[in-house]
Amino acid sequence: MPTFHKLVAVRTSDTFREALEVQEVELAPPSQGQLQVAVRYVGVNAADYLMAAGRYLAPTPPPYDMGAEAVGVVSAVGPGVTDFHEGDAVLAVGVPGYRDVLTMSAAQAIPVSQATPEVLTLGVSGLTASIALHEVGQMSRGETVLVTAAAGGTGSFAAQLAKQAGNHVIGTCSSSDKVDFLRSLGVDRPINYKAEDLAAVLKAEYRKGVDLIFEGVGGTTFDRCVDALAVRGRLLIIGAISEYESGPQVVTGPRILYKLLYKSASLRAFWLMHYFRHTRDHMARLLAMLREGTIRAATDPTPFIGLSRAIDAIDYMYQGKNVGKVVVQI
Ligand code: NAP
Repeated sequence: MPTFHKLVAVRTSDTFREALEVQEVELAPPSQGQLQVAVRYVGVNAADYLMAAGRYLAPTPPPYDMGAEAVGVVSAVGPGVTDFHEGDAVLAVGVPGYRDVLTMSAAQAIPVSQATPEVLTLGVSGLTASIALHEVGQMSRGETVLVTAAAGGTGSFAAQLAKQAGNHVIGTCSSSDKVDFLRSLGVDRPINYKAEDLAAVLKAEYRKGVDLIFEGVGGTTFDRCVDALAVRGRLLIIGAISEYESGPQVVTGPRILYKLLYKSASLRAFWLMHYFRHTRDHMARLLAMLREGTIRAATDPTPFIGLSRAIDAIDYMYQGKNVGKVVVQI
């Protein structure tokens, strides 16, 4: 019986090195309607930490398989599969991607021209940015849009899409190198929050407030963003990475409704798995933009090669070192 390797959470732990293990298991042939994919690249996501800690959605007890996306080449097709053939490149989103062979439903596979790291970034990151801004944030043009963690995998797409739509874009990040990167993406006002005070910059330079905010950091960054909302402003709650390690911060203070009501402002939460029905349209648009060169799929240049390096890759992201999407090459 052939075998494959996968990254498994064998226990839950906030020290994710203790939770995760690479296992070799038997590989069954694909069944009716399934594809088998030789995985080339896997995307690292902030939620990987939550999965390992057992705090992602309503987790089943360990062991469970890790990951959220992968890109690769079809190595076998099961009975009844006519749309895909051996050698086809496919992108898979919402699957446990940390493995060298992925068995998945053909109906869930997204056909792509090449199994590259750039195409991979369009999965969780590109789709989240595109669907959240357009479908939930009702992004228009001529507005002021603020993106937090703008130099990361998801934020770098949000910043570019907001700029492309004809908006003034502000992006937060933690270093001068990332400021340069944001400028190269077209961000009008990069803010290195370690060198400048975010609240002070927003207050001084954006007196009318910010119309649309794509917010994935949480903690006091979220608070500053809520304070900066314009009249009828919308804040997209994408995540709260600064609270993932500590667990949700408890705050005391007046209910948030008082900050929103008198500005007619709104908070809109977004979770990609609730919007999978938009995948086809948004992926087609993102692939076209990548092909035309109107969008950059930024991958972090640090190489992580092999499944066992996935743990180092998650660590690297949590140290805030990444510029663009962190990718593991299988
Ligand atoms: P990423 O942005 O590629 O990397 C994380 C970045 O967060 C770091 O590079 C760092 O950039 C920033 N950060 C700020 N405070 C941090 C802290 N205390 N610890 C670690 N990093 C911190 O990661 P991503 O996977 O694309 O995720 C970004 C956010 O989007 C997360 O909240 C994630 O959960 C969310 N997300 C949500 C969905 C959804 O469906 N809702 C889908 C994808 C991602 P700086 O150092 O420059 O600040």
